[in-house]
Amino acid sequence: MTVPTSTSWRRDSDQQVTCIACGETIDRDAAREYDKQGDRWNRDDKEFEYLCKPCHRECCHQNRDGLEATLVAAGAGRTDRRTFLRQFCELIADDADQSRNES
Ligand SMILES: [Zn+2]
Repeated sequence: MTVPTSTSWRRDSDQQVTCIACGETIDRDAAREYDKQGDRWNRDDKEFEYLCKPCHRECCHQNRDGLEATLVAAGAGRTDRRTFLRQFCELIADDADQSRNES
């Protein structure tokens, strides 16, 4: 049995990720993986988005109807942050308009 050296542990735990909601840089092992497309093993690139714990908690309390579809439509992970945020806000605003009109 091979005991991992402290160096290999350190390489793992040193990885830092960026929260997609607030942009905070956090340790990967302190982050929550977030896979907007649901099936984590069949992704194109097997890269996950991450949320920090506060944002992850907030997300769970929000209405998630259509959130994944909206994220994908806005180009999450496929476009730069500024473009994604603009598109995401537009899509969310459209949704809000539609539900106002429907009710
Ligand atoms: Zn966050």
